[in-house]
Amino acid sequence: MMPAPASVVLQNVDRVPLSLNYVGGIALTINFVECPSQCTECPWSANLDRRVAKILDLGVLSERIQSILHRSNPDVVVLHGADPLLEPRVQDLISTLRRCNARLCIKIRALLAEKEDLNILNPLDIALLELVDEHDLEVLAHSLKLLEDRTSNIEYVLLVHDFNTANTMIHGLATRNLLRHPLNIVLVKDVNILRLASIIDKVRKTYIHVYVPLAPSTDLASVQCPKCRMYVVLRRSGVVAKSRLKGAYCDYCGTQVLRNVAKRIVKVPIEEVVL
Ligand SMILES: [Zn+2]
Repeated sequence: MMPAPASVVLQNVDRVPLSLNYVGGIALTINFVECPSQCTECPWSANLDRRVAKILDLGVLSERIQSILHRSNPDVVVLHGADPLLEPRVQDLISTLRRCNARLCIKIRALLAEKEDLNILNPLDIALLELVDEHDLEVLAHSLKLLEDRTSNIEYVLLVHDFNTANTMIHGLATRNLLRHPLNIVLVKDVNILRLASIIDKVRKTYIHVYVPLAPSTDLASVQCPKCRMYVVLRRSGVVAKSRLKGAYCDYCGTQVLRNVAKRIVKVPIEEVVL
């Protein structure tokens, strides 16, 4: 089974999710299906196979991407869903995106990072390192080293199917001293949000950038300044309600918070299928 692109969607960057890059901006997300991980539930629908998903031809996609970029003017292009680097022909698409000067974010599962040809990612703008279970945690230090050789701009996305695994993963990251990159938590199933919030509150005393960007609660979803600890990007449900930043900097204390700033802040939910 080879990951294949199945849709191209314009969406809020916060729904990717990213927290320190282009917050409030727009992502052009290319979703791949046929993920080798085969989780029973997947927030990216990457577990679909080509019998049920409409597959886009990679060659056609590479040809059309330039006009799509021109029309939609996104802050960042995200290769998402099933690990796109497992498909060798994705190199053409990446080359085209580079020629168009698109900023590129690629989602990579920690467990699979060793198996992928990371050389085609030089230079890489943003890596979104996906964590699903303890297998990812075991290989994470090594996967992280491979990625950190290519970019310092890494964010985690942790998929949460149950509370106990979430607890293990968050503590595992903290005790291994791996929370030097922001952690974005996505709830795949309903978990006890109050219990999760109490873990996050404790971890945030040391590692501030731990978020649940799609949570309806502002406390869990909003971005905090690492110095004064004020909420500087108020978010809920993956959409920015208010920003207290001047560019990348905290409006209260002047500390740099964001790594990349969006061209404009969009305060409404966006989910537009463009291909
Ligand atoms: Zn501040």
